[in-house]
Amino acid sequence: MSETTETIFSKIIRREIPVDIVYEDDLALAFKDIHPQAPVHILVIPKKPIPTLADAESQDHAVLGHLLLTVKRVAKEAGLENGYRVVINTGDDGGQTVYHLHLHILGGRQLSWPPG
Ligand code: 5GP
Repeated sequence: MSETTETIFSKIIRREIPVDIVYEDDLALAFKDIHPQAPVHILVIPKKPIPTLADAESQDHAVLGHLLLTVKRVAKEAGLENGYRVVINTGDDGGQTVYHLHLHILGGRQLSWPPG
């Protein structure tokens, strides 16, 4: 499933390409998606290059929890009081295109269900 740990998101973490960052700490980075699918579309990533959720291990439990709490914080700061969706596309069937674990925050409009 995972081919490499060096992705475009590694370059974003190192500030080698332009990015609109909305939050950063020692473990996580949050930035605006370059192709937003909703009025608010933010990606939350670990600085550790875990390729997919399926590659996460028990030793990653703290960073995984931190990512969810970062989602909560970033969504609140983005003004998503009416709700939002958190998506983790995982592997080929999950539609994952960047193999560095990331949580999509989608909000600012009514989202439909089920997704395609
Ligand atoms: P996936 O399909 O892997 O779940 O999501 C990858 C996301 O990364 C996509 O929504 C895509 O628009 C976003 N993305 C890909 N390259 C870049 C980039 O260089 N900058 C930013 N900000 N987002 C990117």
